[in-house]
Amino acid sequence: MIQPAASPPSAASLPGAAAARIRWLAAPTSAAWLEQAIARPDLLLIDHAHCERKAAGVALQLMFRYPGDDALAAVLSPLAREELEHFELVLALMACRGIALRPLQASPYGAELTRAVRREEPGRMLDSFLVAGLIEARSHERMALLAEHAPDPELRRLYGELLASEARHFGLYWVLCEQRWPRALVMERLGQLAALEVQALLAAQPADGTVRFHSAGVVQDAVASS
Ligand code: FE
Repeated sequence: MIQPAASPPSAASLPGAAAARIRWLAAPTSAAWLEQAIARPDLLLIDHAHCERKAAGVALQLMFRYPGDDALAAVLSPLAREELEHFELVLALMACRGIALRPLQASPYGAELTRAVRREEPGRMLDSFLVAGLIEARSHERMALLAEHAPDPELRRLYGELLASEARHFGLYWVLCEQRWPRALVMERLGQLAALEVQALLAAQPADGTVRFHSAGVVQDAVASS
């Protein structure tokens, strides 16, 4: 059986020594998810393309929500651009393989996390950054598993190439939080949302019963002890 790493990846490549010590994920992905993902490489590629597009959309939405915040725009505009570059990269590989982009039924994961974002400011902004960072962190963790374990060398290379940028992405959301709130407050809220992220993932089965980048599959022991 394939054994993923026992603990979530560290954020060693994040900007700033402080960010490198942050543990985003409350529980690691299970071997069962990895096996499902490896069995459906084409489906995962399509879903990955959608994830990159959605990540660009999240960055753009935040720019529209806070139009007067130029420090925010300076971070999010290049981030949105990079997510779209990744979207195009995945599309190009799909085209080479004759895989067409098609809509996929999303797992309930993203919607569940979005529901946890508080409605009132400034909590709304903090939660939005942390939820976006958590989604990036989970994507990074799962891409790292595929970069190591996917049987197809071209897919291992693709996921491996995208890893460093994905780590940077959740680092950027962390830096945005730290620029605006005391660290203790950010850590406390991150702890709450990280626990919720795991619960959202446990229940994240797409209606068609197949696999997604953000579908169910975390180590249960880690959930119990987290
Ligand atoms: Fe990203």
